[in-house]
Amino acid sequence: MSDTSTTGQREYIAAIDQGTTSSRCIVFDHGGNIVAIEQKEHEQFLPKPGWVEHDAAEIWTNVQEVLAGALTKAKISKENVKAIGITNQRETTMLWDKATGEPVHHAIVWQDTRTDALCKELGRNVGQDRFRRQTGLPLASYFAGPKIRWLLDNVEGLQERAERGELLFGTMDSWVIWNLTGGPDGGVHVTDVTNASRTLLMDLRTLQWDEKICNSIGVPMSLLPEIRSSSEVYGTAKGGVLDGVPVASALGDQQAALFGQTCFSVGEGKSTYGTGTFLLMNTGTDIINSYAGLVTTVGYRIGDQPAVFALEGSIAVTGSLVQWMRDQLGLISSAPEIEELARSVDDNGGAYVVPAFSGLFAPYWQSDARGVIAGLTRYVTKAHIARAVLEATAWQTREIVDAMRKDSGTELTTLKVDGGMTANNLLMQNISDFLDVPVVRPVVAETTCLGAAYAAGLAVGFWENIEDLRDNWSQDAEWTPQMDAGERDKQYKYWLKAVQRTMGWLEGES
Ligand code: ADP
Repeated sequence: MSDTSTTGQREYIAAIDQGTTSSRCIVFDHGGNIVAIEQKEHEQFLPKPGWVEHDAAEIWTNVQEVLAGALTKAKISKENVKAIGITNQRETTMLWDKATGEPVHHAIVWQDTRTDALCKELGRNVGQDRFRRQTGLPLASYFAGPKIRWLLDNVEGLQERAERGELLFGTMDSWVIWNLTGGPDGGVHVTDVTNASRTLLMDLRTLQWDEKICNSIGVPMSLLPEIRSSSEVYGTAKGGVLDGVPVASALGDQQAALFGQTCFSVGEGKSTYGTGTFLLMNTGTDIINSYAGLVTTVGYRIGDQPAVFALEGSIAVTGSLVQWMRDQLGLISSAPEIEELARSVDDNGGAYVVPAFSGLFAPYWQSDARGVIAGLTRYVTKAHIARAVLEATAWQTREIVDAMRKDSGTELTTLKVDGGMTANNLLMQNISDFLDVPVVRPVVAETTCLGAAYAAGLAVGFWENIEDLRDNWSQDAEWTPQMDAGERDKQYKYWLKAVQRTMGWLEGES
């Protein structure tokens, strides 16, 4: 496909990924190919155990730098850029001064657990499901709303300033869009439905802030951005290297990956295998409440079309188990080495590793579980352990997929994968075997930025429709199920038995 418009100009989309450890900008062409990448890390502030903060001013400086850097690398200027798309670390919460544009405190990062006690308190006599029916989420420190409340309660003078209407709240999408479109000088204060669906403040049915919940959590509604779709022109960039270019998409990072993987049909899902793993499955325009330990979230919304929802399952420890084997046990010297070691034996020798290092996330949500290695005999070698470590990621995926089937009644047809662990062929084969579905990996592995680019390009007519995007998706590798069904069932039983051994380990302790 040509990247040249009828006027002879080369045309591109610039996607900004404001992530947890870095901000990146990727320039994409019409075929969805990467033309240039620029990336810059920002500081992680860890003021107390369990607390994680970012300096949003530093992040905004970095975003401007990576935008300029990516354009330079691509040898293009603003005339070549048809739209800017944004994807971001989800739930990370900040407040800033409307008049000066200065953050009033460091941003509180999604991983930060300082609101644990507040969330318990907010659960009152109902517990963590108090707002689940409206928001699709359990009351947990992960989400944004209680983090706003914490800032208002704990930073001197903020409650009063909020009441006087001097402050704005945003997740990183809102912060970047507000600054891009002029900041104190007319910046637009918006968020998209996917980011809003991670605040515990939005009603999934109306796609609007829920006044009652805002009151219950103690968040003044004057702080909140307007909720818009994920793919529409919010405004145009003012000043900077992209002055005048439309800002045309926003999606939380996992939702952007779902979009970049073109999971546009019900039952299509993607799984991103990094430090942890996030699996999202498109459930169409139906909002499916989870009874099996998943979270209900907005997948995306294109312009004024109906919102598309997703079920999400998150696994805390996957790639980090491989790191543990490398750094704590010293059994391998690099992550890729695990594959060679695991392939030196035919099976796990009866061993199962359940990495409940800080409890279990989906579908169990058990904070008192702790890790085990089960099924040990004298026969087991480090190679068997290596296999069991990889299988742990595959079995955890199977449990999420089972929960999705239970909640939605929809069968996952294929699993599209991305992330650092997808370099491991044995693991990808394990996943296909344990799920009994094909696993496919796309050529463009940068699915998060690609999703933001796609949503922005759709909004400005750079791509006509989602079929155009589907045409761009091309397969790099595929793994198909090879495992005997009886053998799969037998091993799954052992896995589930091993998981049971982790439960209640901290029972009776504070
Ligand atoms: P994140 O975005 O969460 O930082 P990445 O997508 O960059 O993660 O993936 C890095 C993770 O993948 C690390 O935890 C690492 O241990 C794991 N990993 C990388 N390569 C391999 C491999 N070949 N086999 C198994 N795990 C791997």
